[in-house]
Amino acid sequence: MPKATAQRDELMRRLASRIPPSALAYVVDLLLDQPVQLVVTRPRRTRLGSYTSPSPGRPWHRITVNEDLNCYAFLVTLLHEIAHLHAFRGASRRIAPHGREWKRAFGNLLHPLVHTPTLPADITEVIRGMLTNPRASSCADPELVAVLSRYDATASTLPRVDELPPGCTFRLGSGRVFKHTRRLRTWHLCEEVRTRQVFRVRGSSRAELLESASVVTPQRARARNATRSASS
Ligand SMILES: [Zn+2]
Repeated sequence: MPKATAQRDELMRRLASRIPPSALAYVVDLLLDQPVQLVVTRPRRTRLGSYTSPSPGRPWHRITVNEDLNCYAFLVTLLHEIAHLHAFRGASRRIAPHGREWKRAFGNLLHPLVHTPTLPADITEVIRGMLTNPRASSCADPELVAVLSRYDATASTLPRVDELPPGCTFRLGSGRVFKHTRRLRTWHLCEEVRTRQVFRVRGSSRAELLESASVVTPQRARARNATRSASS
């Protein structure tokens, strides 16, 4: 497999549980477009993400995003930080962090999302409004924060993958459905139902339990054997 394809596949795998499936390839291609280090960090109260430009000792861009964001907030935060990268790259002088250049870059990055069925309708509506009114184009936009956190509220009442019964079927916040296979230390090996590929899912991820594994209890096993022997 060519190195570039393998790197893309690896990044797709790593981000699969954090980004809505229909936006995944778009985001991965943006990240592969330049040397950028993406770090998913422990939640910070003061910010959702950060961007640091290259320096002589570290000649690559660095982006961090909090790990506890729902998939839509993660996507918008990541695009917010990539917009800093694009604004920095295109600037020939010092620019304001959320100035004209950043707003233009953020708008360009959000634009494809409103034309594909990537996000829930309420989020798409707010983003569409931001595109026609660049003044509001920031993650600090109260309307955007409110609509994104709607999806937090549902997520936080869900159990963690660690708490689910072995062998069950569950849905992650990204909408992907998995069948649990085996627990590792902090991860779980799970088979995605649609693709039948095996992925590692973090135990702390919130998930909706769809179906518990069918457990054969001793009574049921006896009854089944009895049926079998009765019919033979
Ligand atoms: Zn910013």
